[in-house]
Amino acid sequence: MLNHKSQIANLKQYQNTNVLNSKQFRLLGFRILNLFGAWNLVLGIWDLFAICYHSCNSQLKKFPSLLVTHYSSLLSLFAIRYLLFTICYLLLTTCCFAQENFVALTFDDGPHPYYTRKILEILDRFNVKATFFLVGTQIEKYPYLVKEIFEKGHEIGNHTYSHKRLIFLTDEQIKEQILKNDLLIEKITGKKPLYFRPPGGRYYFKSLKNLTRHEVILWTINTDDIKKSASQIFKDVIQARDGDIILMHSGVPQTVKVLPRILRFFKRNNIRAVSVSQLKKIQSERFFSTSD
Ligand SMILES: [Zn+2]
Repeated sequence: MLNHKSQIANLKQYQNTNVLNSKQFRLLGFRILNLFGAWNLVLGIWDLFAICYHSCNSQLKKFPSLLVTHYSSLLSLFAIRYLLFTICYLLLTTCCFAQENFVALTFDDGPHPYYTRKILEILDRFNVKATFFLVGTQIEKYPYLVKEIFEKGHEIGNHTYSHKRLIFLTDEQIKEQILKNDLLIEKITGKKPLYFRPPGGRYYFKSLKNLTRHEVILWTINTDDIKKSASQIFKDVIQARDGDIILMHSGVPQTVKVLPRILRFFKRNNIRAVSVSQLKKIQSERFFSTSD
């Protein structure tokens, strides 16, 4: 039986590789800084001309005190300009060089007749896409919610037909669990799910490999939200690092309660919540960019 250590190891490998998009960010940052530098140089030359011009001005020569005042005001102008330049430099380096982190949000065991819609509303408000691993028996009861999830641009994964632990099933039964759910999802969305998540994360690698062409997606952060309070879930989720896959559940009131707080935290801390396929796309782009 496979626990998901190898999957976590793969993700950590991506976490340790440095940002690929940072290349473009750095380039942009340097270009803007160069423009600022050039702008300052032009203004500096202009200031020098202004000083020379006023030095030659007979009126000023007659009044040395006025000249001194003029020089000091020019010096203050220089000081203000370079202070502004430093502030802009610091702001730009903070914005352009900061790495954007990506984590995948996953919601299991849905659709839930009440909380799935609440989750969708919150995700919409924060403009976030997530992955919903749906169970066939729930899909049969609430097909309209599956449609809603799909139409809002979220991703749907297969979480078996009736949420049975695969390690207790025969190969034939596992196949049936996966295929039956695939058909239900495909009937509603017109699309076969790419990903499969075994209930409880437990399965025999060898048998599953032969039974499904889906990619098996587990998680790196289990919020254990069914058993925990909203603040405990929050504490777990904020440990997330770039590349993490966070496991939550569709029918848990405390998850719905804490979700806006989590998404606000992500926003403030330069973490973007995405679906599993978005995360995989970003990781492969990073991989190819860093291996240039
Ligand atoms: Zn489950």
